[in-house]
Amino acid sequence: MNLSIKTRLVTLHTITTTLVVAFVLGLLFSISSNEIFSNVSQKLKTRVNESYEEITIIDGNIIFDADFVKIEDGIYLSAYNVGESDLLYGRIPYGFEGLEFKEDVIREVNTDNVNYYVYDMKVPLENGNEIMIRGITSIDEAKNEFDNTLRIALLLTPLLIILVAVLGYFLSKRALAPVDKITRTVKDIIAKKDLSKRVNLKKGSDEIYELAATFDELLDDVEESMQREKRFTDDVAHELRTPLSVAKMSLTEALRGDLDPEVKEELKVVQNKLDMMTKMTAQLLLLARADQGKIDLHKEKIAFSELSEMVALEFKELALNKGIELVYDIKEDLYVKGDETMLLRLYNNVLENALNYSKEGSTIRLSVDDKDEDIIFKIADEGIGISKDDLGKIFERFYRADKSRTLKGSGLGLSIVKWIADAHDIRIEVKSEPDKGSEFIFTIKKYEC
Ligand code: ADP
Repeated sequence: MNLSIKTRLVTLHTITTTLVVAFVLGLLFSISSNEIFSNVSQKLKTRVNESYEEITIIDGNIIFDADFVKIEDGIYLSAYNVGESDLLYGRIPYGFEGLEFKEDVIREVNTDNVNYYVYDMKVPLENGNEIMIRGITSIDEAKNEFDNTLRIALLLTPLLIILVAVLGYFLSKRALAPVDKITRTVKDIIAKKDLSKRVNLKKGSDEIYELAATFDELLDDVEESMQREKRFTDDVAHELRTPLSVAKMSLTEALRGDLDPEVKEELKVVQNKLDMMTKMTAQLLLLARADQGKIDLHKEKIAFSELSEMVALEFKELALNKGIELVYDIKEDLYVKGDETMLLRLYNNVLENALNYSKEGSTIRLSVDDKDEDIIFKIADEGIGISKDDLGKIFERFYRADKSRTLKGSGLGLSIVKWIADAHDIRIEVKSEPDKGSEFIFTIKKYEC
């Protein structure tokens, strides 16, 4: 069974308490029931034993003291001639006439629905004769008292158990609250990808506090090394920019000169690679800065339809050079709130991919439409497509679905698209089928003036 620690603790605690309470109560009641009844028997015996003091012989006649008929401690005394059942003196409760004698044993007799202890004993008289004394006492009173106490105990026990369970629940909830806090912090870190969060338990000395403090220390370390890594990427990308642009300039200069065609070809390959590296460095720098929260987005009202048309026209031209047709269908007068440069970058990266992974003679479709509060813009190509396995990974950094097919990409373009989309609350959906084509669908909130 998959129970939470809280439930398990409460259940265990309640079961243990119930067992202990049941055991203690059982023990107490069995001891006290014996005690009560042996107490009653003891009193009865003593009273009968001492009764001879209330009998004297005067002139051969048996004289009973007045105390003999008194019902002391609920005990009735009665006297009989040995061997006879006629009452000589004393008092008996109703229904005891003619009850046979059994010497020196306490027995339980029920008459008229009342339970009695009866004790018979031969008492020697001063004149050498003997007399039979009978002591009778009701045990119902003791029994009733005992039963009442038992009833109260049986009634109170479930209440006590409920109280124990409720108290146990609150106590374990309190005791486990720090664990909840640790879980919430971890969930928060995962959901918001924010390593700056800490558990921050109030000072304490228990094991959970230790755990939380160790966990916070671990987070400090992880955050620090992540920051270092991001700074490192940032620094490297930054430092590479200058030598790369110097190398590019020198190469362009060299290519202008009179060179052997073969050398020229080789140098053009190098120039291509340098272009790729420059682009990759810029992308890395952007991502590193984004990770460090160093990018300030300038969000403003943007004429999204116009921006889309501008992009479409630019890419129509580029597509044409590659023998690809770009068609577009853009609904007019749609506005969004966003950072124009970043939205352009998003469009560029997706359209560049569409161009790169499309075959000559195919068509790329760009459409912008609205639905209720949203604007939906789609870029669809008839290119190589993306396999189901790759589809979930294409937004990861440096991920390239098929490394052998193209040497053009860096694997960073869609990571940037994802970051820009997240920063603008844009939802991304990708539909693709290998060898048929891909469709990137973006949904962004409309800006209503
Ligand atoms: P790259 O610079 O390699 O294109 P991206 O991050 O932009 O990097 O894309 C990651 C991978 O996703 C690409 O390498 C490619 O395999 C796949 N991909 C992206 N867009 C398309 C597309 N329109 N058609 C087919 N595959 C694509």
